[in-house]
Amino acid sequence: MSDMTMEEFRKNGHQLVDWIADYLKDIENYPALSQVSPGDILKKIPTIPPKKGEAIENVLKDVDKILMDGITHWNHPGFMAYFNSTSSGPGILAELLTAGLGINGMLWKTSPAFTEHERAMMNWFRQMVGLPREYWGIIYDTASTSSMHSIASAREQLNLGFREKGMAGRSDVPRLKMYCSEHAHSSIEKGAVTLGIGLEGVRKIPVNKNFEMIPKELERAIVEDLLEGSKPFCVVATVGTTSTTSVDPVEEIANICEKHKLWLHIDAAYAGVTAMIPEMKWVTEGWDKADSIVINPHKWMFTPMDLSIYFTRKPEILKKAFSLTPEYLKTDQDDEVENLMGYGIQLGRRFRSLKLWFVIRYFGVEGLASRIKDHINLAKEFAGWIDEEKDFERLAPVHFSTVCFRYNPKDKSEEELNILNELLLEKINASGKIFLSHTKIDSKFVIRLTIGSIRHERRHIVEAWELIKTAAKNLK
Ligand code: PLP
Repeated sequence: MSDMTMEEFRKNGHQLVDWIADYLKDIENYPALSQVSPGDILKKIPTIPPKKGEAIENVLKDVDKILMDGITHWNHPGFMAYFNSTSSGPGILAELLTAGLGINGMLWKTSPAFTEHERAMMNWFRQMVGLPREYWGIIYDTASTSSMHSIASAREQLNLGFREKGMAGRSDVPRLKMYCSEHAHSSIEKGAVTLGIGLEGVRKIPVNKNFEMIPKELERAIVEDLLEGSKPFCVVATVGTTSTTSVDPVEEIANICEKHKLWLHIDAAYAGVTAMIPEMKWVTEGWDKADSIVINPHKWMFTPMDLSIYFTRKPEILKKAFSLTPEYLKTDQDDEVENLMGYGIQLGRRFRSLKLWFVIRYFGVEGLASRIKDHINLAKEFAGWIDEEKDFERLAPVHFSTVCFRYNPKDKSEEELNILNELLLEKINASGKIFLSHTKIDSKFVIRLTIGSIRHERRHIVEAWELIKTAAKNLK
């Protein structure tokens, strides 16, 4: 019994590449947001697996027949929800090569090219975002994982023997406290939950009217916790928060961290890539004082899910927290090479750095930066249209490519406005033409429009605005 023949593979491979090329060429014919109901797709899939094998052609046909109705098309230029994640041609090709090579890069020995390529790509990307040489990088799947490793490093830095003794049942361990703004991403709290810090160990620092962490409030919280006998250990600053894309004042936060010897992590999962644009250098203020930084090329650098980059100035602490080498994974080169399994929770690692190689080489740093800059300009133009329309209101500054707004016709209470905007969003998304998402700011229901797809052109934003205005008019 063996694999499919290589003739068959070649034939099916060509069919699949053709399928993807047609799909991406015609993507605007699909609804941006899947319109199915829960359970619709599941009931179309046989409940028992096939006993005998069948042709890949059949499987490909079922992709169309069974799955496509239930696909929300992230690659659709009408997809303007959450933060975009789009697959560029070079990124898709790299994914195919990753699977073809089928490497597990747990150790240097299990593919020297894997480890050394990742090192080279981290060096490239570090320069692209203007970080100093001492930042060492590693690729994880998502920002949630990157930030969890940051919090784990911050905890390890305390030298309280957590690695050996754990945390539970110890009277010698103070209450650990970490800090982030009210607008930090939920992954920060999930990291705290995972690592035994608990939700009560995370203090949410208030923000100013622009949704930026207030450094004075941070300092006050730290001092309060110290007086109470707790042990502050980590601060997370966000550059590009999820709801409004606000930017915490990193420089001031860094000074507070320095004073109290706290680990500073910067969550720049979405906005970090803008550091490639010369005019956007301001976003990196204070970054050189951070202990760690996360940036996600899978959000706004046209790299297919998933690829998150974690930079730290202290890889030795990460290694101390996670490295554990059983006999069967020892190699002759352990003293002279980097075995990436020692820098995180996972053993097995897929060859993600190939995606960076393909994407960066195909577009070039200038090509990537100019695409991202176009998105920022389009978002600013869209924000201008909102500002000029008397029945619409913008609810947050536009630093990047996300605009927060709501429909606000005269003489409506806040409660009525929330209901109206929820209804408006439903109508917009039911159109299938575009997909927007929402958030709540100060109890206000807010509609978010994000630009960041490799396929976004000005015409898509113009069409989206016309659709939004028409849907709002039809609500009356
Ligand atoms: N951090 C920020 C600021 C985010 O906006 C998000 C997701 O949107 C995340 C972290 C989590 O990203 P991931 O899905 O890569 O875990």
